[in-house]
Amino acid sequence: MKIIPYGHQYIDKGDIKVVSDVLRSDWLTQGLKVKEFEKALSDYVGSKYAVAVSSGTAALHLACLAAGISKGDEVITSAITFVASANCVFYCGAKPLFADVDPVTANITPESISQRINFKTKALIPVHFGGFSCDMKAIKNLAIKNKLIIIEDACHALGASYEGLKVGSCKYSDMTVFSFHPVKSITTGEGGAITTNNKKYYEKLIMLRQHGITKNFTKLSNKKVAVNPWYHEMQILGFNYRITDFQCALGISQLKKLNKFIQKRRRIAGIYNKAFKNNIFFDLPTEKNHTKSSWHLYAIRIKDRYKPQKAIIFNKLRKRGIGVQVHYIPVYLQPYYQKLGYKKGLCLNAEDFYAREISLPLYPSITNEDIRYVKDELFEVFKEIDK
Ligand SMILES: *Cc1c(COP(=O)(O)O)cnc(C)c1O
Repeated sequence: MKIIPYGHQYIDKGDIKVVSDVLRSDWLTQGLKVKEFEKALSDYVGSKYAVAVSSGTAALHLACLAAGISKGDEVITSAITFVASANCVFYCGAKPLFADVDPVTANITPESISQRINFKTKALIPVHFGGFSCDMKAIKNLAIKNKLIIIEDACHALGASYEGLKVGSCKYSDMTVFSFHPVKSITTGEGGAITTNNKKYYEKLIMLRQHGITKNFTKLSNKKVAVNPWYHEMQILGFNYRITDFQCALGISQLKKLNKFIQKRRRIAGIYNKAFKNNIFFDLPTEKNHTKSSWHLYAIRIKDRYKPQKAIIFNKLRKRGIGVQVHYIPVYLQPYYQKLGYKKGLCLNAEDFYAREISLPLYPSITNEDIRYVKDELFEVFKEIDK
């Protein structure tokens, strides 16, 4: 049976051509395409710098390291996110704390962040759930007051706007992290990036991406031997988080289509919004005035009375070929976190959101026929449940 997935990449002939061109060239990695992609990305979001890496998770890890997060520090992130938003804090030897979310947007709230801030807090990682920006002005104010670094997890939000600026401009943050996994706004297969306006962070990210090595003369500690052409220094412990040139060629080609992708996503969300308006079964995702979503997800919230039947509803949809998904199990309910002592009941809105959320198929290449099928079958399933 055909399955309509919740998300899917859009690859055209142009994408395939630019990738094969790189494959036929001398530089599969460490060539010119990486810089070209970084320039295109920073131009798009309106940041000074961009650093492309091997995944969104690698981007989160490096952003945390560049921010100086280390043992003894605490970092506050959202309970409703992919595990990587919190795992990156553990990678640095620090401790993630989870703040509760808004019951409608599933975005971390400034009030909940405030409750978690203490003398150990070093940074905040707000996540723009489903492509809807968090309340960044209020979050930035908290960060200024408490001297905290902000790393936006914008893995859902490439192409989204906040207060008329593209997410990633870093007007209200220190760094912003993106992912180019196939279900995200654009894809490079695997891939990610960090944008920033801060030169120090930028230079540190570049070094950390490549083993902590530098050849930049002004940075060398041992300038006398630098006359030797092979000379380079490893100054900090870094990683190989490089992205390849053929991935970046794909990224450049995809980025040119990003506005079209977002328009298509908006159109599909508009069709769903109209079809589901005032229905008695579930609540809809809603754009607030200050945000323009990239519509990474179309996350419905089933009404309270259906919560006990969520698994039945989910299974019925899957049986009909609708590849619904749930975003997310609150991170701290994962066994790894439970073993470390994070307790159920920590974020009640997040737990309620989890009990209600179902993501419907939404991606640029979905057909009108499939959209109609999803709409019709969804209502059918709820009617069956009510029988
Ligand atoms: C996809 C995603 C990540 C991780 O990105 P990868 O490229 O898969 O490593 C991190 N955070 C969020 C919110 C994501 O959706």
